[in-house]
Amino acid sequence: MPMDELVDKILDDETKFAGIFDLRATPLLCSDIVIQYCAANACGKYNANWTCPPGVGDPEKCMAKVKSYGKVLIFRSEYKIGEWYEYELVEETIRKHQANVRRVRDMIPKDAGDHLVLSGGGCVYCKECAYVNKEKCRHPEIAIPPIEAYGVDIFGFTKKNKIKYGSPEGEMYYFGMILFD
Ligand code: SF4
Repeated sequence: MPMDELVDKILDDETKFAGIFDLRATPLLCSDIVIQYCAANACGKYNANWTCPPGVGDPEKCMAKVKSYGKVLIFRSEYKIGEWYEYELVEETIRKHQANVRRVRDMIPKDAGDHLVLSGGGCVYCKECAYVNKEKCRHPEIAIPPIEAYGVDIFGFTKKNKIKYGSPEGEMYYFGMILFD
């Protein structure tokens, strides 16, 4: 099954948008400024999670890896969180989104060749990441690195390609991506 066919297959009640973009025509820009935002640690996962900087690896290598691919399949998970902004509900939507990205990852054709899957947000699979105690990741087959940790300017890319980015009040939107050739 070619990767193009995945676009329609992954759409469901959670995944309302998916599309493939040619990165030679519209490059996916990466910047260490995005990684520096991680260091501001608004999410609390900087230096506390294997999928986030610095645990995820050398920023230059991460950005070079993204730039080595010619195409990207971008998809967006959408969740209702009700009228009020509650942190527990937001956390739950991140958990659901990361499970959704794993669902999509499991649908990638076996003959797809080299590819890279990135998700929104640092891995929340364990209550506390093993990184905190300097232990190995407990579920490396589950953990998917965040888009931001690879320096990807997802905001700029979605804007350029007219993909809806911000979520309306009472909803949370997250992106996932598969980079391939
Ligand atoms: S699976 Fe657990 S240990 Fe591994 S990165 Fe995710 S939270 Fe950390």
